[in-house]
Amino acid sequence: MSRRIAPGRRIDAAVVGGGIVGAACALALAREGLQVTLIERAEPAPWSVDAPDRRDPRVYAFAPDSAALLDAVGVWDTVAAARAQPYRRMCVWDAGGGEALRFDADALAVKQLGWIVENALLQDRLWAALRASTVTVRCPAAVVALERRDEGSGEAGATLELDDGLRIEARVAIAADGARSTLRDLAGIATTTEDYAQRGVVAYVATERPHEDTAWQRFLPTGPLAFLPCAPWAAAPHVSSIVWTLPEAEAVRVLALDDARFAEELARAFTSRLGACRPLTPRIGFPLRRQLAEAYAAGPVLVMGDAAHVVHPLAGQGVNLGLRDASALRALVADARARRADWAAPHRLARWARARRSDATASAQSFSLINRVFSSDDVAATLLRGHALGLAGALPPLNRALWRHAAGV
Ligand SMILES: Cc1cc2nc3c(=O)[nH]c(=O)nc-3n(C[C@H](O)[C@H](O)[C@H](O)COP(=O)(O)OP(=O)(O)OC[C@H]3O[C@@H](n4cnc5c(N)ncnc54)[C@H](O)[C@@H]3O)c2cc1C
Repeated sequence: MSRRIAPGRRIDAAVVGGGIVGAACALALAREGLQVTLIERAEPAPWSVDAPDRRDPRVYAFAPDSAALLDAVGVWDTVAAARAQPYRRMCVWDAGGGEALRFDADALAVKQLGWIVENALLQDRLWAALRASTVTVRCPAAVVALERRDEGSGEAGATLELDDGLRIEARVAIAADGARSTLRDLAGIATTTEDYAQRGVVAYVATERPHEDTAWQRFLPTGPLAFLPCAPWAAAPHVSSIVWTLPEAEAVRVLALDDARFAEELARAFTSRLGACRPLTPRIGFPLRRQLAEAYAAGPVLVMGDAAHVVHPLAGQGVNLGLRDASALRALVADARARRADWAAPHRLARWARARRSDATASAQSFSLINRVFSSDDVAATLLRGHALGLAGALPPLNRALWRHAAGV
């Protein structure tokens, strides 16, 4: 799909990358009355509810504030109606012993803690909304060059050159083009990376017992193992999506197991909490690393989503953090417009960049710390984490504060 923009016309915002974060950001800014162009390399594959047993292996534990952003751009109802599995409880425990940390929607006086949603469904619904919106979509197209005019060098803005030769002038260019962001690199924004030397193994599995609308996570010395509750399949009434973090060599071994052996090892690692397991899909392993951009703004270029931060999946916050970047930018535009002020003023963009970088960096570092402390056989670490989980579970105000932080409310 492509709609040509008039040559030489300067738009408000050019969003590069039509993943979940870029698509949601483009829609949110357009709703605030900005002229927006979205540039995406490849249109996402359509998602259909008529293929109930063909599901995207990438699922997200979607936080309430992420759902609120999608609601604000008119997309959440269609996602929820299609296939979003609410979860009402969370249970986190350590293989080394101690109390479990539990969150319960009833105790927190909410209907659900969040939803488990497929990546492909979110993309499909966001792109349907893009087609019906005022956003100009250029796809397939990729950014290949950037000219930047920072404050003090005339009218600040960015000119993006696409691989088909088209040039787009915008007041602000937003890099939402993922972990290997071209626009971030063109803007000269460096990243720091920590390789966890782990892989996340993901698959759908049928379990003998119901998932109890609970997101389960067991910390093992090799890394966390999560069972996320999913809607039933035709051939399986009880279905979970698993994310099993393992050291590199162990992940390679587990990926190569035959189904029967994999099911056996998986159930054992999960202490058969939901009974016997049966794989419903092939397993996929993805390498885990932390990657943080050193700045979230360089003149008129902003970075968000995985272009800005790649975090450990143990807290299920990757996509939620990215959507928080987009929400904060939308709030900045709304606030500036209410005051009849310039939304793209450098001091405003700098404030957004500082706030988002601080939030994402603190989150990324705490996930790294949890990963290190919990993926350890060390006696002191084992005692500490058992005690810490018990304490967080036993003190209602701490329990509530932890959940509020994860939920973004
Ligand atoms: C296998 C896997 C499993 C995961 N599981 C989880 C999970 O369980 N929970 C969780 O929270 N997170 C998970 N993540 C991370 C999560 O997918 C990301 O945090 C999220 O997708 C980030 O969204 P994004 O829109 O920022 O980037 P992306 O989804 O990477 O989207 C970037 C988009 O930019 C486009 N693009 C790239 N370069 C260009 C260019 N030069 N020009 C134009 N377009 C371009 C790409 O085609 C793509 O559509 C997983 C990631 C992977 C790879």
